Amino acid sequence: MDVVRTCIRKMSAYIPGDAADDPKVVKLNQNESRFPPSPRAIRAIEAAASGLALYPESTSRALREAAAKVYSVPASRIMAGNGSDDILRILFQCCCDPGDRAMAFYPSYSYYATLADMYDVDYRLGDFAGDSAIPDTVQFDAATLVVLPHPNAPTGAVFPERDVRRLLETAPGLVVVDEAYADFSGQTVLPLLDEYENLVVVRTFSKSYGLAGLRVGLGFAREELLAEMEKVRDFYNLDRLAQAGAVAPLADNVWVRRRPGGVVAGRGAALPPLRELGLTVYPSGANFILVRFRDEAEAKRIFESLRSRGVLVRYFTGRGLADCIRVSIGTETDMVVFQNEFEALLE
Ligand SMILES: *Cc1c(COP(=O)(O)O)cnc(C)c1O
Repeated sequence: MDVVRTCIRKMSAYIPGDAADDPKVVKLNQNESRFPPSPRAIRAIEAAASGLALYPESTSRALREAAAKVYSVPASRIMAGNGSDDILRILFQCCCDPGDRAMAFYPSYSYYATLADMYDVDYRLGDFAGDSAIPDTVQFDAATLVVLPHPNAPTGAVFPERDVRRLLETAPGLVVVDEAYADFSGQTVLPLLDEYENLVVVRTFSKSYGLAGLRVGLGFAREELLAEMEKVRDFYNLDRLAQAGAVAPLADNVWVRRRPGGVVAGRGAALPPLRELGLTVYPSGANFILVRFRDEAEAKRIFESLRSRGVLVRYFTGRGLADCIRVSIGTETDMVVFQNEFEALLE
């Protein structure tokens, strides 16, 4: 195996949450949508299937133009990705030399660490101030990239815009704001693209659009950076079905506006009963909540018992997280099942 780069041999593979196609499973472990996608997306995918003999348009032009209208950012500042993970990978590949630093605040989306390993990047995790505030002064250690999920994963924390601005003003390199869950918080830093040259915003169709299986994400950055990112983008990174399926819901105005509503209502309704049980539930602007138990053993027991009863949630082993479970917000029916099973287990 000595043909393999040392950093690849040393790294461990990213482990996603358990996939499960069984419709009987109440799947609340990967923050996918439990609500169906826009019916227009399905129709557009079916229609696009007739063109599969031909290569897709390589820059996802129609998708970028539709996104430009919805997000009020010129299409020239948008790149489409095979999921937002593709955009994140392109950023690491494009901006980080081996030995460069990247940083995030702990806890964060764990895939960033995997990307750093892949490109031999020295990944540092800073601490939040208190539970989840961006500290006033940050030890950047000359990081080329600072990555910030906003709302944060896996806590759901939302940051005041002035704190994100301070990061942008003091970071030595790029600040990548990963807005995978922004539709559920209603807060976005997209309007700051005009002000800060070092800002990159990443969005996904996997959460609020209910299209995780289609693999579509968007990157927003200034043109000069996108031109460099274009050089390493897989030429046909979005297939015909993905492009068509993502354009359709963007053009469906009514659906776009209503889309996060069910989750936001479900999140509000999920909190009080859990808090009444004496559990710590972190305030969340995302489509999930992080629930803290008395200890690690209890969190593990609840996670495993829920799984054996057909309710999948996420359990993490990282520092400070092993006494928590993360629960995606599903439909009303999902949440009733979750709540019932959960209360039975705690008794
Ligand atoms: C889910 C998630 C992603 C991945 O999105 P894809 O578009 O499915 O690749 C990226 N960032 C964060 C913080 C996420 O939670």
